[in-house]
Parts: sequence; C-alpha cells; structure tokens
Amino acid sequence: MKHTRIKELLDSNEFGKEFIVKGWVKTFRNNQFLAINDGSCLSNLQIVIGINEFEDQQVKKLHTGAAIAVKGILTESQGKGQRVELKATCLEILGESDPDKFPLQPKKHSLEFLREIAHLRFRTTTFNAIFKVRNALAFAVHQFFNERGFVYIHTPIITGSDAEGAGEMFQVTTLDLDQPARNDKGEIDYKEDFFGKQTNLTVSGQLEGELAAMALGNIYTFGPTFRAENSNTTRHLAEFWMIEPEMAFYDNNDNMDLAEELLKYVIKYALETCPDEIEFLKNRQAEEDKKKPQNERAAMNLTEKLEFCLLNDFERISYTEAIEILKRSKPNQKKQFKYLIDGWGVDLQSEHERYLVEKHFKKPVILSDYPADIKAFYMRQNEVDEQGRKTVAAMDILFPGIGEIVGGSQREERYDVLTKRMDEMNIPQHEMDWFLDTRRFGTAPHAGFGLGFERLVLFVTGMTNIRDVIPFPRFPKSAEF
Ligand code: ATP
Ligand code: MG
Ligand code: MG
Ligand code: MG
Repeated sequence: MKHTRIKELLDSNEFGKEFIVKGWVKTFRNNQFLAINDGSCLSNLQIVIGINEFEDQQVKKLHTGAAIAVKGILTESQGKGQRVELKATCLEILGESDPDKFPLQPKKHSLEFLREIAHLRFRTTTFNAIFKVRNALAFAVHQFFNERGFVYIHTPIITGSDAEGAGEMFQVTTLDLDQPARNDKGEIDYKEDFFGKQTNLTVSGQLEGELAAMALGNIYTFGPTFRAENSNTTRHLAEFWMIEPEMAFYDNNDNMDLAEELLKYVIKYALETCPDEIEFLKNRQAEEDKKKPQNERAAMNLTEKLEFCLLNDFERISYTEAIEILKRSKPNQKKQFKYLIDGWGVDLQSEHERYLVEKHFKKPVILSDYPADIKAFYMRQNEVDEQGRKTVAAMDILFPGIGEIVGGSQREERYDVLTKRMDEMNIPQHEMDWFLDTRRFGTAPHAGFGLGFERLVLFVTGMTNIRDVIPFPRFPKSAEF
C-alpha cells in the first residue's frame, strides 16, 4: 500500500478508510496526540495513538524530529483546530531523533538562530512557507516568458566577460590535483586561469544573452549569479539568482512596460497559488512587527505592500527629477537621510530609493536616464542635455522595503559610440570581438534588464534578510555547506 501525502488527507472525506502516512514528528502530547508534517503543506496531521495499543518502547521514541510511518483509519476529529485525524493502528519509527541533541524543539526560534543551523531550518513551518513561495515565483517567471514566446537561454557560469565592470568577480582557478604546483614555501600554487585563459564566475548573463537576442528576438536567462560583495548587507549575497530578459527591437519604454508586467504577474501568481503560505507569512510578519518599537515598525504590512504593487501604475521619473525631489526633501526633514545627496551625478543609496517609493510617491518607482558615469559601458547614450550632462537610457525599479529590485537599460547598438565609450573606460576591445560582432553585423536597437530573484522573494514573503529566502545562503561569513 502506497503512502498518502498529508495535504491530500487533510482535504479528504474518505472517513473510515485506511491510509498510510509518513512524515516527521512535530509534537507529541499526553502520550496520545501526535502532530506530523511531511512537507506537503504547512498544516500538521493529528494522529491519535490509542492508549495501551502500542508498546512503550515505540512510544518512548516519538520525539520531535523523528521520521515515522503510520497506518490508520481516517476519522472526523472531535478536537478543535482540525477537521480530520488518523486513528493509528500500526506505527513504525523510521529514523529516531535524540531529544537532547535535536535543536528544533517545539518552540519559536529566532531567524538568527535558524540561520546558524541553515541545514535544518527546512524543517520549520516558516521556511516551508518561504521555499514554497520561492518555488511558485520561479515557476511563474518561466510561465510568463513562455506565454510570450521568449526562449530560455542558458548563459555560461564560467565566462571571460565582466558585464558590470564593477570589479566584483570571483576568479576561476585550475589545480592539478595529482601534482599541484607548489611555491618556495611548499604552499599550493593556484593557477589563476581556466586552462590558460582568465575567467570568472558570471556576474550577469547579459552580454551573452544579447548575442542570442540578436537572432532569436526575445530571450531570457535565469540562473546563478556571483558577485564578490565583501559586505554583509541584508540585500546582497555572494551567490544569487537573476532573471535577465533581452529583447531585440525594444526601446527603454518597452523595457519598463515588460518589467512592470512581469513583476505584477509573478506576485499575482504567488498570491493565487500559495494562499496558505502567504497568509502564514503575513501573520508572522505582523507578530514580528508588534515586538518592535513604534518607530522601527514597517510602514506597510505584507498585504498592503503586495497590493501597493499590484494596484498602482508604477511612477516613472528621471534620475534628474529624483535628485530634485531628494534635495527638496532635506530642509524640513533634517535627519531624513544618513547619506545626503550632494548633487547631480551621485548614485542613490537604498534609503533614498525607499524614500521616493514609501514617502514621496507612495507607489513603486521606475527611475530612468541615470548619469553615464555611474553606469556600465553598454548602456545607450542619450543626447547631451542643455547643461552638458551625459545620461544613459537606464532604468531601475524601486520597491518598498527593498529599494532597487530591477536594473536595466536600452543597450548601445551604435558601433562607433560603443567602442568610443569602451576606450574612455579602458575596456579592451580585442577581448570583446565576439560581443562587438553583434554591432558589426545587423545591429539593431535592443533592451533588457536584470531582476534579482531573491529580492523578489524577499518582497513577496515579507522577510527582511536576503539570507532567509535562499535555501543555501552564500555570503562572506557563511560557514555552512
Ligand atoms: P545594488 O545597487 O543593490 O548593489 P546593482 O545595481 O549592483 O544592485 P545590478 O547589476 O543592476 O545590481 O543587478 C541587477 C539586479 O540584481 C539588481 O537590481 C538586484 O535586484 C540584483 N542584485 C544585484 N546584486 C545582488 C546581490 N549581491 N545579491 C542579490 N541580488 C543582487
Ligand atoms: Mg551592487
Ligand atoms: Mg544599483
Ligand atoms: Mg543596478
């Protein structure tokens, strides 16, 4: 007889029928009531163990965390809090769990504590909910692009290209394990190359994605991305996942339209397909918030935040307008910002981004046309304005509680303009011949963006630390795995 998953049993009306369930013990009360979970849903199944029906030896092993298999009869529950329960007729302990050693005893654990035992936190209801929402969002991303005829392209993880030029790359080294070369001190001499060529782990799939888009039209890549971020913020990881569509014959406005549509689509999908998980996370966030002093509480609860993005048209303004707003906001709110805006040309900090979204516009914001000097070489140059300012057709999407969630641009398709910019930025052209061929042969306007997947999951789950929305967080001080 095959086992049935708990989610199915909780919805079943087949009372009097025999079922087998398998899962992990959450709690065991009064030597009689077991709550078990098998990961299929957030709710536990109650199992009633008839007194004296089972050997003491077995019952004594029913500790939190143990894996068990139970055969029993499905009955309507008389108790509060559940509709059905299983009256056990047969019980088998599959894997014991030592109550003195298993760290996840039935109580609320802090996220900080759970981060220390990230390998076990999958067993908690909170992480069950987070990873279900993460799964739904990933699926929705693929569905969105698939419905629109985009081709999913796998761009390389080991690459010689540095799209961002921000010096945040992990270099790839090769090592002959049989006979590693050693230096004078006898230490292993790592060769900082990939069989003779310098390579790094990808910081973005964009440049390779452009090659595909300039033939297939609309493509996207969705894969692991690596940045040597030697900082420990709540919004950066050294290894994260990025969604990067690239579209031929799109300008920056088409780019913004697509990004806004994508964000609304995937948020809506998660709300519709994970109602229990989102409800659980909403309550969780509300409880956490109550513990904080009034001035540190979130401006919006999770329900309001999600509606904020679904119901509003995103505000679209230029970088230059944003700087004016931020400067004007200073006099009457002196302590508004830790980092004051000195003038045109500086990059925004997330506190500025959040101010624009949460306080000024009260809508998600798309900022466009940033100063060329703070953006990457490949962005399309705008006409120089009357004041001689050079800007590029970039766009960032800013979300409440997060700041930048999307960064994108129209790409510089004009060969001469692009190569001149590369020279100005000391980017060697001969190493990028493969990329420049897109501009030599049949160049065309095109655009694209990068959506940080973990920032999206952060937003939809209402969590506040990016390390809590990826199964295996990788950051400078991560010790596990
Ligand atoms: P930030 O300003 O927050 O450092 P960025 O401008 O360096 O981000 P982009 O190069 O524009 O990032 O990358 C596109 C998107 O990837 C960002 O909008 C963000 O959502 C996400 N992202 C960038 N760096 C990280 C990181 N270290 N960890 C997680 N997500 C990231
Ligand atoms: Mg960055
Ligand atoms: Mg940025
Ligand atoms: Mg960016």
